[in-house]
Amino acid sequence: MLKKIFLCSISNINSGTCSEDCKFCSQSVKYRADIERYAKKPIKEILKEAKKFDSLGALGFCLVSAHKALDEKTLEFVCEISHTLKKEVPRLRLIACNGTASKEQLIELKNSGISAYNHNLETSQSFYAQICSTHPWSERYETCENVNSSGLNLICGGIFGMGESDKDRVSMLESIKSLKPVSVPLNFYHHNEALPLNPSTLSVDEALDIIRLSRKILSDVDRLMVAGGREITFKNRQDEIFSAGVNSIVIGNYLTTLGRNAYDDLDMIKKLGFDIATDTRVK
Ligand code: SF4
Repeated sequence: MLKKIFLCSISNINSGTCSEDCKFCSQSVKYRADIERYAKKPIKEILKEAKKFDSLGALGFCLVSAHKALDEKTLEFVCEISHTLKKEVPRLRLIACNGTASKEQLIELKNSGISAYNHNLETSQSFYAQICSTHPWSERYETCENVNSSGLNLICGGIFGMGESDKDRVSMLESIKSLKPVSVPLNFYHHNEALPLNPSTLSVDEALDIIRLSRKILSDVDRLMVAGGREITFKNRQDEIFSAGVNSIVIGNYLTTLGRNAYDDLDMIKKLGFDIATDTRVK
């Protein structure tokens, strides 16, 4: 049977304004990374991006904001974007990714047309304190539980290559499994010199082993995605991620780093004999 690859795309609707101190994140104001910072991307621009990715075959379109928690202003903004996109680009499944959130806020997002909420655990519970001091891992887990009780689909993943141990990786994947997400984004740490972490030392083979481990632990998950860090981690072996267990990728740019040309990804998928998914099993 032909493998179907789910394509997702990202829009950074608010960039670089977060006061938390996650050591992997160039959007924290604490590290003063040299990135673009703005409070609100104009809806016209977001719509243009959505139309572009829709025409390239993406099914998922993720609205990301750089805050620790979803505040009322952002909630209103995301709902406004959602109403516009649902009218103009109805095929796209909208995903919101706006930090910790209550069940009530998540229900409001759902009512505006959002299909899924992305909130990552990032790493294991025990390693988290070495990565972030301004909020606990438990708040992340609780938000994922809120997503599940709101009726939105949960998208929950993490980052590899931050100095975590094999045990931490297994622990995070087991925690993700316990939350029953529909999709799991695997990110690979992309170093920025302003950040306090050391650059990732993962080899391509180690990163492929991480995908195999994730697929083994998360065997019931509909979509296993490689998200941020794909190009720098897998280099000229990006086509091997699919045989390792991945069936979803992000096309286009990431939050603060560039992805490769989307047409190179479409070519890679075609050459491998895969189809681009036109529907998701989970609604
Ligand atoms: S809370 Fe989110 S946006 Fe803020 S620093 Fe951490 S990862 Fe970055």
